[in-house]
Amino acid sequence: MSRVCTYSAFARACRSRPEPRDPHPRPDDLRGPARTIPAVAGHRLSTWLDERGFARVLDARGWLPTAPDWAGGIRARWTPGEAAARARLDELEDVLEGYGESRDRSDGASTSLLSPRLRFGELSPHEVWHRSVRIGRAGRSVAAAGVFNDELLWREFAWHRRAVLTHLATENIRSESDDFEWDDDPDALRAWQQGRTGVPLVDAGMRELWETGFMHNRVRMVTASFLVKNLLQHWTRGEQWFWDTLVDADEASNPFNWQWVAGSGDDAAPYFRIFNPYRQAERFDPDNAYVNTWVPPEDRDAEPIVDVAQTRREALAEYRRVKS
Ligand SMILES: Cc1cc2nc3c(=O)[nH]c(=O)nc-3n(C[C@H](O)[C@H](O)[C@H](O)COP(=O)(O)OP(=O)(O)OC[C@H]3O[C@@H](n4cnc5c(N)ncnc54)[C@H](O)[C@@H]3O)c2cc1C
Repeated sequence: MSRVCTYSAFARACRSRPEPRDPHPRPDDLRGPARTIPAVAGHRLSTWLDERGFARVLDARGWLPTAPDWAGGIRARWTPGEAAARARLDELEDVLEGYGESRDRSDGASTSLLSPRLRFGELSPHEVWHRSVRIGRAGRSVAAAGVFNDELLWREFAWHRRAVLTHLATENIRSESDDFEWDDDPDALRAWQQGRTGVPLVDAGMRELWETGFMHNRVRMVTASFLVKNLLQHWTRGEQWFWDTLVDADEASNPFNWQWVAGSGDDAAPYFRIFNPYRQAERFDPDNAYVNTWVPPEDRDAEPIVDVAQTRREALAEYRRVKS
């Protein structure tokens, strides 16, 4: 039996209640645990939490990647820790100025990039919510602040569903999707993971993900749709790859969004919504700036591994069969 919930009902219920509480004030004193794990011995908790302390602990345990060092791009893009998270939060006002019009463009830093900060608790959703509300109430970027807070509410919705659906990462929310006949093609899956499908926007997204641990929301939707609806691979395979590679991978938003794309989830994308990666590139990367950043010239004219129009028709036929 399906256990589907709608975002609009959830959002209505949230909005009928008082606003989220204010963030707690910074504690005057934060003591570490009395007993520390051996590798952390000698470090105060505050040292453990700061970036260099954290890197030292990983180093001491032999957990920093070396051969190969696959984390170089991640280190170059992200500075972990609360100080860097707060510095980014302080830029929210500037981000919101262009957020309404440009947040869907894949070729610029048009969104907050706060998801890993929320994922690791460097910032609380309360704090981000209130900061955005304050910016809106001050009369700056009012509409954008509303759109931004709706995104935060989607995150809450995903967590709300995860609290009830303990198997969100492995089981379809809509049980009728269980009848879908997926392909099992390890070569296609590997091509997708490595950004070698021959479809430029998909390959750019997957290469950015591998290099930096991040991908813009629009590109996540396009790459996920391509895996599920053109390569006909089960959504759990994509979910697992994102889980292994995203710096913001979390156990609610990741499977929730994969199910949304696959059409097996809450308020899911309708089954006939199959992103055309070429049209998406025209709309959201009109100057090819994004693709040119991530796909080297020698790979830009590679032959696509599938015919996008043909596989779209096949996926639609299979979705219709399951639906009926
Ligand atoms: C297939 C797929 C997998 C995803 N996996 C994850 C994941 O593991 N972790 C994750 O945090 N987000 C995930 N998302 C949602 C979204 O892509 C990211 O939250 C967003 O790209 C983060 O960038 P940002 O912080 O700049 O977003 P902004 O546009 O600045 O949005 C502000 C905040 O709202 C929340 N948010 C925005 N969009 C969504 C959404 N669709 N669902 C839930 N929360 C959202 C995030 O916390 C984000 O930081 C996924 C989306 C797709 C399509």
